[in-house]
Amino acid sequence: MRSKKKIIITSVICLGMAALAYFAWLFPFYEFTSNDFGTGIEKLMSAEYLYTLTPLFIIIALATTGIILVIFIRKFLAKTDKNRSRAAQVRMGRLKGDSPKQKKSLFMIIRWAAMIIFTFMMIWGGLIFGLKMSSLSIPVLSCPWNTEQMTESSCYYLSHLNELFELPIQNIILFFGSTIAFTLLLGRAICGFLCPMGLIQDITDKIRQKTKIEGIKMNDKMYETLTPIKWCMALIFTGLCFAGGNFCNFCPAVAVSPILAGMSTSLYVSGFLMILVLMGGFFKRRAFCTICPLGTVMGFFHKISLFRVKKDCQSCTECGACYEACPMGIKMIYTEREKTDVTHANCIMCGECVKCCPEDNALSLTFAGKKIYTSSRKKIMSGYEEVRNYYDGKSNS
Ligand code: SF4
Ligand code: SF4
Ligand code: SF4
Repeated sequence: MRSKKKIIITSVICLGMAALAYFAWLFPFYEFTSNDFGTGIEKLMSAEYLYTLTPLFIIIALATTGIILVIFIRKFLAKTDKNRSRAAQVRMGRLKGDSPKQKKSLFMIIRWAAMIIFTFMMIWGGLIFGLKMSSLSIPVLSCPWNTEQMTESSCYYLSHLNELFELPIQNIILFFGSTIAFTLLLGRAICGFLCPMGLIQDITDKIRQKTKIEGIKMNDKMYETLTPIKWCMALIFTGLCFAGGNFCNFCPAVAVSPILAGMSTSLYVSGFLMILVLMGGFFKRRAFCTICPLGTVMGFFHKISLFRVKKDCQSCTECGACYEACPMGIKMIYTEREKTDVTHANCIMCGECVKCCPEDNALSLTFAGKKIYTSSRKKIMSGYEEVRNYYDGKSNS
C-alpha cells in the first residue's frame, strides 16, 4: 500500500513539474505567425528556423521524460507488487531477448518509403520545390496551417464544414472530388501509407522495439473503453464548428507540420496532446489512430475501398498471430471462419497481419482484386534461419 502511495505522489509531483515546465517554456512561442525569414532551403538553414523548432524539442523532451517515468513505474511495480512481480519479471525478461528477424518484404519497404516521401513532401514540398497544389485535398492529419505544404489536407475543412460551404462552388467540388477520390481509391490505406501522424507513431514504435522495452498489449476491454472516446472525437471533429468551436485548437498535428515548416503555432493544448500521442505511440503502436476522428470518418467508406484484406479460412490454423500483430486490435481477421473478405473499418492496410501469418496464402492484401502481399511460411521461417543453422551445425559436429 505504501509503495502505491509513493508512486502516486511521485507521479503527481512529476506531472505537475512537467506541466509547469511545459507552460513556462512554451509561453514565448504562443502566438501563431507565419515567420517571414527567407524562402526555400535558405529558410531551413537559418538560425530563426532553429528557434522556431524549439517548442518541438520541448515536446520531444517532455514526451521522453514521460516515457522514462512510465518505464520506471512499471519496473517498480513489477519489483514491489508480489502478486504481479513473478509474471511481470518473466514477461519482461522474455521480451528483452532478441526476436528472430524476418527478411524485409517489398511491401513493407514500399510502405515505409511512401510514408517518408509523402511526409517530407507534405511538410517541405512547397517550401523546397515550390510545388503547391492547394486545390488537391488529401484526407490525412497533416496540418494545413502549414501554408508551405504541397497539397491541402482535408482535415481543416472536414472540421470546419461551415466554412467549406461558404467557398465558391468550384472549390467545394474540387474539395469533395479529390477527397472522395482518394478515400474511394485508397480507403484507410491512406493511414498506412501517407499520413504523417501515422509515420510519427510507427517511428516511436520502432524506437521502442530497438530499445527492447516492453510495449503495452491492449485487450478487448481496453479497446471497448476507447470506443466511446473515438466516437466523441469524431462528433467533435465534424460538429464543433457549428457550436462555435475549433478542432484545430487541440489537434496534435498542429504541433508538428507548421513548426517543421518554420511557423510558430499556438501550442498550449495541441502541444500537450502531442506529448501524449508520442508517449502512447511508444508503448502501443498507432495508439492515437485508434481514436483519430479523421480515421473514423474514412472508416465509413471501407466497404467500397479498392484495398482489401482477404482470408483463406481453409489455410488458417487459428494460431492468432495476425491478431497479436495488428496495431488496430482487429479481432475478426483471426476469428472469421467463413468470409473471405475480412476488411474492417479500422484497418489501415499496414500488412502486419500478413507479415506474421505463418500459413501460405491464409491472409492477403489485395488492390482491385489483385493480390499485392500474401502470407508465406517461407518468409516467416527465414527469421529462424540463424537458429536453424546453429542447431544444424551442432548436430553435425
Ligand atoms: S488514423 Fe492515424 S494515420 Fe489515419 S488519419 Fe488519423 S492519425 Fe493519420
Ligand atoms: S488487419 Fe492487418 S492490415 Fe489491417 S490494420 Fe490489422 S494488421 Fe494492419
Ligand atoms: S495468423 Fe494466419 S493462420 Fe494464424 S490465425 Fe491469423 S490467419 Fe490464421
